[in-house]
Amino acid sequence: APTIGVFALQGDVREHARCLEQAGAKAVAVRRPEELEAVDALVVPGGESTTMWKLADAFELLEPLRARIKDGMPAYGSCAGMIMLADRIEGGIEGQQTIGGIDMVVRRNAFGRQVDSFESDIDFAGMGPLRAVFIRAPWVESVGSDVDVLARAEAGDRIVAVRQGPLLATSFHPELTGGCDVHSYFVEMVREL
Ligand code: GLN
Repeated sequence: APTIGVFALQGDVREHARCLEQAGAKAVAVRRPEELEAVDALVVPGGESTTMWKLADAFELLEPLRARIKDGMPAYGSCAGMIMLADRIEGGIEGQQTIGGIDMVVRRNAFGRQVDSFESDIDFAGMGPLRAVFIRAPWVESVGSDVDVLARAEAGDRIVAVRQGPLLATSFHPELTGGCDVHSYFVEMVREL
C-alpha cells in the first residue's frame, strides 16, 4: 500500500487519515521535512490557508513541499489545501504564499460572500453524484490548458475540482461527508503514477 502523508501543522488531519486508510493507503502525519521525505504522496487538508502558509514557513516545510511537488510527488488538496496547491490566488491576505503546482487561479472564500457553508450533490470525474460540503470554500477562477476540470457546482458555473497530472484539488470536503470516493480516486492515481 502507498504511504500517504497528511500535512498536519493545521487542518482536519484525522478525517483525511481515516479516508486514506479506508481507501487502502497507509496514512501518516507530516510536520517535519524528514517526514515529508518518507511519503509517496501528500494530502493537504481543509482548514485555514493563511495559517498553513505561516506554519509551513515557520517549520521550514514550505520549500521542501515546493521541491517535492516540482519533483512530481502526487498531492491532493481539499479546500484550504486547494488554495495551497494553486499557483495564483485572489482574496489572500497581504503577502500570502502557496506551495503551488496547479496552473490555476483560486479565489479564497469565494462562496462565503453568498453563504458561509452549504451542501450540494455534484458529479465528480464522471463518477456520478457525490455529496459535497463547502465551508467558506474557494472556487477556481481560471485554469491553464494542462488542467482538467473534474467537477462544477452552481449549475455548472463554478469549477470546484481539478487535476493536473499528479495533482488533485477540490473546493469541498469529501472527508466530512462519510464517503471517501475522492480519496479512493486519489489513491488510485498514486498507484498508477
Ligand atoms: N477559507 C479557508 C481558507 O481560506 C478555507 C476553508 C476550509 O478549508 N474549509 O483557507
